[in-house]
Amino acid sequence: MEANSDVIIIGGGLAGLTSAIHLSKSGLKVILIEKNEFPKHKVCGEYISNEVLPYFESLGLKISDLKPSNIDKLEFSNTNGKVISNKLPLGGFGISRYFLDNYLFEKAKEKGCQIIQDSVIDIQFIENQFHISTSNNLKFKSKIAIGAFGKRSNIDQKLNRNFIQKKSPWLAVKAHYSGIFEDNLVGLHNFEGGYCGVSKVEKDIINICYLVDYESFKNHKNIEEFQSEVIYKNPNLKSIFENSTLLFDKPLTISQICFEKKATVENHILMIGDTAGLIHPLCGNGMAMAIHSAKIASELIIDFLNNTINSRKELEDKYIQQWNTNFKSRLAMGRILSKIVQKEKLASVLMQLLVIFPFILSIIIRKTHGKPIILKS
Ligand SMILES: Cc1cc2nc3c(=O)[nH]c(=O)nc-3n(C[C@H](O)[C@H](O)[C@H](O)COP(=O)(O)OP(=O)(O)OC[C@H]3O[C@@H](n4cnc5c(N)ncnc54)[C@H](O)[C@@H]3O)c2cc1C
Repeated sequence: MEANSDVIIIGGGLAGLTSAIHLSKSGLKVILIEKNEFPKHKVCGEYISNEVLPYFESLGLKISDLKPSNIDKLEFSNTNGKVISNKLPLGGFGISRYFLDNYLFEKAKEKGCQIIQDSVIDIQFIENQFHISTSNNLKFKSKIAIGAFGKRSNIDQKLNRNFIQKKSPWLAVKAHYSGIFEDNLVGLHNFEGGYCGVSKVEKDIINICYLVDYESFKNHKNIEEFQSEVIYKNPNLKSIFENSTLLFDKPLTISQICFEKKATVENHILMIGDTAGLIHPLCGNGMAMAIHSAKIASELIIDFLNNTINSRKELEDKYIQQWNTNFKSRLAMGRILSKIVQKEKLASVLMQLLVIFPFILSIIIRKTHGKPIILKS
């Protein structure tokens, strides 16, 4: 027997959960399938741009209830520790994914979304319906399927998506710490082969998360050795790490992080969040983009199911067009930035330019961030 719904969402990260709340709130029958249980820590810088706040409020989500840190200052340093800083025009907040994803999970259930803990293993599109199977042998069918399964998933393999064949050199390490760090600051500190983001989340906790090229990492025995031999060469990072106490048993790691272009719609599945494309974390905007893409897809799906959009083709074309308008140039800017910080000489030229012309940093922030996200009236 196949359980029937209007929409099935595969993956319950920020993008999937936001869409689940939006669509359930508008009265649709929504099933979300997430393979992991809640709450769970995730590898992420945990700084979110304030651009999501108006949209969250319109969905009845009150981020201030979670008591996040409020962040309005960016500090950037090169491998030698030379620092420049800038006000963040729109600002943002710091909240752990452990806390935020769980909050959205509870809100999605409250709005009537059915959430199932299972792993999707197959999606077929037959006669205008999606047929979805899970590893626990559950079967579902729906008119619409949303792909919200993140950076890299078994479903990418199943769909034979282009990027999945390519190896990616990037890995990331993240942990929470106690210590002293400015409440309103997000620090981005360059080191050989990568960069490290530092900012506060709720409860005075410091989140430290770094992205590193495997080539730089592989010659070291373990994370501790890598940190003291490579990361500590940046004096800012040395001071931050040496004055902080690890709150996790050990840091979390992920590998094969890929910034390649991805298709926005594949096999008629509307892809949202990282499933549609991951911006370089240096831009600190992936979560806002995930939430924004959930909004765009949800609004169009509501129009499609109300027959305001006449065909599936029109739905898909409109989604691709709106996705490109909002995110294509931001992703391109992210790719350029990541190339620059990877090359030490280029990074040092950029740093010198930023010191002489600090307004360039404001331009970069503007080019990688969006405007406040507002619900369609
Ligand atoms: C190192 C690093 C630092 C970052 N720092 C920041 C930052 O400071 N600020 C910012 O805005 N962005 C940051 N980002 C980006 C941000 O983390 C992502 O853009 C965001 O998590 C995207 O959310 P999502 O919902 O698309 O994916 P995810 O949060 O990854 O959710 C995908 C979900 O799908 C589930 N799933 C996968 N496959 C299946 C399956 N087959 N069946 C069921 N469930 C499945 C997974 O378990 C997961 O829960 C960072 C990214 C990295 C890598």
